[in-house]
Amino acid sequence: CGVLGIFDKTLDIPRYIYWGLFALQHRGQESGGMALTDGVDIHTYRGMGLISSVFEKGVPDEEGGPIGIGHVRYSTTGSNNPRNIQPLAVYTPMGQLALAHNGNLTNTRALREELDKNGAIFQTTMDSEIIVNLISRSQKETMEERIMESMNRLGGAYSLVLMTKDKLYGARDPYGFRPLCIGRTDGGGWVLASETCALDAIGATFVRDVQPGEFVEITEQGVKSRIFATVDRKQICSFEYIYFARPDSTIDGQDVYQARLNMGKEMWNETQYDADLVISVPDSGNTAAIGYSQASGIPFRHGLIKNRYMGRTFIKPNQKQRELAVRMKLNVVKSVVKGKRIVMVDDSIVRGTTSGIICKLLREAGAKEVYMCVSAPPIKYPCFYGIDTSVRKELIASTLNVEQIQKYIGVDKLHFISIEGLSRAISNIPREDMCLACFNNDYPTAIPTANEEGEKY
Ligand code: 5GP
Ligand code: SF4
Ligand code: MG
Repeated sequence: CGVLGIFDKTLDIPRYIYWGLFALQHRGQESGGMALTDGVDIHTYRGMGLISSVFEKGVPDEEGGPIGIGHVRYSTTGSNNPRNIQPLAVYTPMGQLALAHNGNLTNTRALREELDKNGAIFQTTMDSEIIVNLISRSQKETMEERIMESMNRLGGAYSLVLMTKDKLYGARDPYGFRPLCIGRTDGGGWVLASETCALDAIGATFVRDVQPGEFVEITEQGVKSRIFATVDRKQICSFEYIYFARPDSTIDGQDVYQARLNMGKEMWNETQYDADLVISVPDSGNTAAIGYSQASGIPFRHGLIKNRYMGRTFIKPNQKQRELAVRMKLNVVKSVVKGKRIVMVDDSIVRGTTSGIICKLLREAGAKEVYMCVSAPPIKYPCFYGIDTSVRKELIASTLNVEQIQKYIGVDKLHFISIEGLSRAISNIPREDMCLACFNNDYPTAIPTANEEGEKY
């Protein structure tokens, strides 16, 4: 998911929230919305689909208050439910509160049971509703203390943006799985955003990242910071650098584009494939493919063209439909690939469907050899921290080894970046501060057991 918050007295808040969310669209396409205030009440405007369709009939009018927050929601398997749209706004004993959440909690079961016992009623299946319930039921005397107390009860991943009628808050879990940064507007206002690309989009300047375990309170007086929890090692999500974040963002001091270029270079060092050209699976493989080409001297060509009007192809009911969807989304430039030995670079193999179909298309177009390089190590374990890398049994690398996957997708050679190569590529972040759990099973927190997660995993 993507989250955003603005505190600024001079801006047209709804319009700027809209633009910021538009820049974060890649972080979630299922639904989205914003919460605004007139200085007395908080109102939400939300809907299904892309931000442009949610606000198809226009962006809401300015309400007069200097604060707004927004959210774009990323699908998790099987939960395409209109009631789960964020931001979520509730009444607490301290007044109205709206919240936008990125990440997945790992102790929802226990928290929910406890809240149920105490008479809480839930309207959605979202983790976020648990958070607002905790805040609302806290006995602490200020909103800030209530929020911090509640944060300390949450397990797993959360980057949060919250607002009351007169304050904007941000919080990041002590591991820092999901990104969150602070920016400044020209008019002296403040922005909180999942990625720096959203700051750029609204003309704000980057100030700093919210620290893992930090709670920030933003008012007219500026930013007040408190650390509410600390852990031994940060656990920044490595998959943000591989796939999820936009390449024009910088997260926790690491430029995403440079990390992807480095991944390409590492894969060249690890493979040294003798080939005629390097192609990428657009768009997610582009930067690593350029890195491979630069390091190897093998020319980069556009061998696959993406139809930019296509939506997601990730979840399709059967193989035939998946294949049709990939054919609609990607087509081969025959004159480029014909008779050539090709290094094809993509960011990840999840189920193996996409790569298998693309390999078939390349061969139909006359490619002589297809060598595939993948800038994520084999994804063997599910993510419990907010990336939907599918149910475990659907992760092809959880049951097949590299040789078997190579056979399954039909390429002549297959290489996954090594975990060492990946951590070298994300050069500004020490390996011990990076989450790699979906590759190496080293979950930094307790994880839900299979039956606890129910339908989700
Ligand atoms: P596969 O066909 O192996 O299941 O999917 C691999 C493709 O899915 C890669 O091209 C990768 O860019 C993309 N991908 C990886 N993670 C995600 C995700 O969380 N959501 C979507 N929509 N695509 C993903
Ligand atoms: Fe990121 Fe994988 Fe860790 Fe999930 S398990 S937070 S996708 S590195
Ligand atoms: Mg892709």
